[in-house]
Amino acid sequence: MNTPSSPPQASPLNVDILCVGAGVASLSTALALLRCHKKTGGGKPPPRVVVLEKSRSIGNHVLSGAVIDPAAFEGLLNEEEIRRLPVEAHVTREAFRFLAGARVSLPIPWVPSMMRAHGFPIGSLSRITRYLAMLCEAEGAEIYCGFAVTEWLEDETGRIIGARTGPRGMNRSGQPKSNYAPSEEIRARAIVLGEGACGYLAERLIASHGMAACRPQTYALGVKELVEIPKNEARRGEILHTFGYPAATGDYGGGFVYHISATEVMVGYVYGLDYSRPETDIHALFRRYKAHPAIASHMAGGKVVAYGAKAIPEGGLFSVPNLVTDGALVVGDSGGLLDSLRIKGIHMAMQSGRLAGETLAAAWRAGDFGVARLAAYERALRDSPVWRQLQRVRNVRASFSKHMALGVAAVGCAWLTRGILPWWKVSMEPDPLTLRPARRGGASPFANLEVSLVSPDRLTDVFLSGTIHEEDQPCHLLILDREKCAECITRYGAPCQHFCPAEVYRLEEGQIRADFSNCVHCKTCQVKDPYANIRWTPPTGGDGPRYTRL
Ligand SMILES: Cc1cc2nc3c(=O)[nH]c(=O)nc-3n(C[C@H](O)[C@H](O)[C@H](O)COP(=O)(O)OP(=O)(O)OC[C@H]3O[C@@H](n4cnc5c(N)ncnc54)[C@H](O)[C@@H]3O)c2cc1C
Ligand code: SF4
Repeated sequence: MNTPSSPPQASPLNVDILCVGAGVASLSTALALLRCHKKTGGGKPPPRVVVLEKSRSIGNHVLSGAVIDPAAFEGLLNEEEIRRLPVEAHVTREAFRFLAGARVSLPIPWVPSMMRAHGFPIGSLSRITRYLAMLCEAEGAEIYCGFAVTEWLEDETGRIIGARTGPRGMNRSGQPKSNYAPSEEIRARAIVLGEGACGYLAERLIASHGMAACRPQTYALGVKELVEIPKNEARRGEILHTFGYPAATGDYGGGFVYHISATEVMVGYVYGLDYSRPETDIHALFRRYKAHPAIASHMAGGKVVAYGAKAIPEGGLFSVPNLVTDGALVVGDSGGLLDSLRIKGIHMAMQSGRLAGETLAAAWRAGDFGVARLAAYERALRDSPVWRQLQRVRNVRASFSKHMALGVAAVGCAWLTRGILPWWKVSMEPDPLTLRPARRGGASPFANLEVSLVSPDRLTDVFLSGTIHEEDQPCHLLILDREKCAECITRYGAPCQHFCPAEVYRLEEGQIRADFSNCVHCKTCQVKDPYANIRWTPPTGGDGPRYTRL
């Protein structure tokens, strides 16, 4: 991937294993690898394991609920480490409600056991990620923040032999500034891609190395706020999941409320990006959601103090690509490993990381990183509970895309038959192809939303996400073809101005302008643009949101 336009580089850095992204998937890989080597390495020196993260500090670009299935920790953390996890609550009370309208909500009296979470830890994924990073460093991993990896390196046979970070200190027109630092080339025996959903490298690697799954990946956008509320000890550990209002008929959307401590409640809304109405504004739907009495009561007297948004891979088993190629492994959300029925991916990310780490430890021991040896990771994953869970709910999300009743029936089948029925692959259209042409005229359906301490507008929320981008740098959001953009404005009414949860895109004088400094790196524009005309690229390392409590 050495492109002629790449700027001059410093001399290459040689490492053994390079992990791209310091999310829970990559960090679990590093931790399992170093621990496994300690146990089984037979006196051989440990590998040099380097983790590169694009955010300014660990956890700044991760966002989750987060109710964590404790299966995440199996074989990875010991009891003492689990006890010390930075969480203040475990689920004590859980409810599931159908929001039947703007004021009505009905309890769901019975929830299948596979969806229950009693006793699970709840907390901030940013904090948990920092904790995992600390454990990794204690084992000898080197973690560097503020480095966005922008290319992989491969030899003439197509084997991945390392990666390259983006340069820093370029001005708006791509010329070096006084603080210019060239990109770094890192040579590695193997690289691990744990970039989260819609990974910049992972997506291209999967496409270019024949790793694609039998069904394209489909996504949801998750938006979330942390609300500080007056102290209420009784609610610590209480969680609520909902579906129904305010999702439009035929769309797949639901929300959650997690009391992660006596004074903090996480409120989030997840919406399938296979929606068809171009004016769909998920941030505005989230605000409507919070205004519902069943949700508002959880935030009474509170104030939103943090905000974030992120894509979630929802395609399930049929959208999981091959996770190994010569010299590279894919872990976590980058590989689509997420239980889309429960919106739970942390345990799958950590367990995929563990299995990748154990595979790499064996490869290091044998001095062989060939594709045949690395393929043991994929075999182990297919043999693990992660795979069985994916199998069980493999048709649920696709069934919801047809009709809510079919989706509910698919949940029942998944539970009753452990995923055997339906045995065929239910089809699902790719997200960019589901939009219908915009309707002409009419007021915005979201015009009259009242702003309050628990219902900030989009720009206030961007401020609460802590997002910062150096203004004088090349725009990281590439609009590839202005003619297609004009066509999209005419046909779909510029859906980017609605779907972006950070108000990056604005329609001004018939043209789309992108204020990239607001971008929270959720990747929705890359997924939902009907002409695939927007390309998200990593901005200067260290820029982007600064989530610390999400
Ligand atoms: C709103 C919401 C609610 C959720 N709720 C839950 C829940 O309750 N329970 C649950 O189990 N799961 C939940 N999930 C899913 C869960 O958060 C993910 O499955 C999990 O975070 C995936 O971990 P990961 O390590 O694969 O990716 P991430 O957590 O996304 O980490 C990827 C890291 O890689 C970095 N990175 C990416 N590209 C590069 C690059 N090119 N160079 C350098 N660094 C890079 C990113 O900055 C980031 O730090 C939720 C998700 C959302 C959005
Ligand atoms: S510009 Fe794209 S990636 Fe950035 S916040 Fe908006 S939709 Fe998300």
